Amino acid sequence: MNLPIKIISTDFDGTIFAEFENPPISPRFVTLIRRLQAQGVKWVINTGRDMSGLMEALARSQVSIQPDALVLVEREIHFHHDSRYVGHDEWNHGCTAAHEELFARIHPDLPRLRKWIADRYDATVYEDDYSPFCLLARHTRDAEAIHNYLDEYCRTVPNLHVVRNDVYARLAHNGYDKGKGLAEIARRWRISREHILVAGDHLNDLPMLTRDHAHSLVTNDNAVEPVKTTIRQQNGFVSQLSHANGVADGIENYLFGKQ
Ligand SMILES: [Mg+2]
Repeated sequence: MNLPIKIISTDFDGTIFAEFENPPISPRFVTLIRRLQAQGVKWVINTGRDMSGLMEALARSQVSIQPDALVLVEREIHFHHDSRYVGHDEWNHGCTAAHEELFARIHPDLPRLRKWIADRYDATVYEDDYSPFCLLARHTRDAEAIHNYLDEYCRTVPNLHVVRNDVYARLAHNGYDKGKGLAEIARRWRISREHILVAGDHLNDLPMLTRDHAHSLVTNDNAVEPVKTTIRQQNGFVSQLSHANGVADGIENYLFGKQ
């Protein structure tokens, strides 16, 4: 059977993974993905998590399916080969070099940004392996205000942008995001966007939740309102179901349903 969808790119947390549910990834979604992978459909997990964080959560979920490719930390690409994940070296090295150059450029400004936040909010600013400036705000409204401030700063620095997921945010290079990672994977697999379905629930998914990257757009009932709005504006599918059940609902709708 020649299916119209050849790549399914899903965010992880909140989209297919429900931390406090048991099991955290719904059996309906797992069964559907297993069936579609058997028919040649490729599944991509497109996440802000790093490799160890994602592998730990997948192991804890005890799912019997494995993604065919990963976009990690919203920027690095890995392909599944012979039961392991192999980095897309050309892409990942370019990504690392671009970030090193960018972060060296903004380094002198970071104390000023940290002070602005500390003077106004009870928020944590820290450095990790992927960004010299990461934020954990106490409330969503604080994160929104800090996000606005950081956006203003980003307008003064070429190629810098804020990647935000609820109360978490980090500064990163705008040449790399979930959409651009997915586009590179599709290019490598020689699959055009007409055959791509994307699913996400939060702001950091917006770069891939667009017709520029995918014909089929899906979100679930627990998604934040800006995501539901952008999906509706593009005639995508907003499920009444939560988490992975909502994604399965959307996939089935595109494959077997009305759209
Ligand atoms: Mg999410």
